[in-house]
Amino acid sequence: MTKTIGFLGLGHMGGPMAANLVKAGYDVYAFDPSAAAQEQARADGIALADTGPAAAAGRDIVITMLTNGKLVRDVYAELLPAAVPATLFVDCSTIDVADAKAAAEAASAAGHRALDAPVSGGVAGAAAGTLTFMVGGADADFAEALPVLEVMGAKVVHCGASGVGQAAKICNNMLLGISMIGLSEALVLGEKLGLSHQSFFDVVSTASGQSWALTTYCPVPGPVPTSPANNDYQPGFATALMNKDLGLAVEALRANGVDGRIGALAAEIYSEFNETSGGRDFSAIVTEVRERSGGSAPAE
Ligand code: NAD
Repeated sequence: MTKTIGFLGLGHMGGPMAANLVKAGYDVYAFDPSAAAQEQARADGIALADTGPAAAAGRDIVITMLTNGKLVRDVYAELLPAAVPATLFVDCSTIDVADAKAAAEAASAAGHRALDAPVSGGVAGAAAGTLTFMVGGADADFAEALPVLEVMGAKVVHCGASGVGQAAKICNNMLLGISMIGLSEALVLGEKLGLSHQSFFDVVSTASGQSWALTTYCPVPGPVPTSPANNDYQPGFATALMNKDLGLAVEALRANGVDGRIGALAAEIYSEFNETSGGRDFSAIVTEVRERSGGSAPAE
């Protein structure tokens, strides 16, 4: 029998994810307090409930896609008493490992089951149904959620116990932030030394400095035509979100006694850049590195 799904949080990510579930034939009952999100949901054929608890009550699976850990915990406190026993809660938001574990423990104490299942792939991946899910929780719960997650994603990885999905997300995004800054410094150094962006790309993309940041998301216009650099750094992945994820990474570094000096520095650099980024993509950090280096963008 097809599962019924409650879906809370129909924003940039949750809206298209819920729409893909509807397209795949699932009965989705959603809630979002934002009028704009509700309007889009109606256009996408998503059934709307009047409250969060009404969206969750009587469903097999309840998915949340919310902005931060406090909101997830607050929303769980409202939903858990309303849901039928043993409902499977799947939180796809990017939040702190400690908040993810606390939310799952609250679900379990209320007689339910819970997975953390944050995603990577951005708004484009959410719309195309090609997200990567990183999942933490019990084997049987993972197996039950898998067909539903596969509708919204191209890759679903069971990373381990509760909270470990969030751990994977935080580790990946810390490395991405570090690597985008490192790449930007190398590009600006190359500019100063007379190396064109295309020559830099042609060498480094197949040499030992190669990275996803360069080959898929090149932060200067030209070599990768689909990267945000070619579109005035419209996100993509906004600097504010990278700043948030690096904040979570730094907390996790400290809480676990890891000597993460580069991660901490990346968080500091993105925190400063977030003040002036004007909503641009996180790859626009290259413009900041160039400006601080007294340079101007070379003519391509
Ligand atoms: P968003 O702000 O667009 O969406 C959040 C939605 O939650 C909003 O529509 C808001 O109205 C709704 N909401 C607030 N309170 C609610 C409540 N009580 N009940 C139900 N809905 C409520 O954010 P987003 O960009 O969709 O991101 C969601 C999560 O996904 C974040 O944790 C983010 O870090 C993560 N993420 C985002 C991206 C991205 O590229 N946008 C990529 C990967 C992961």
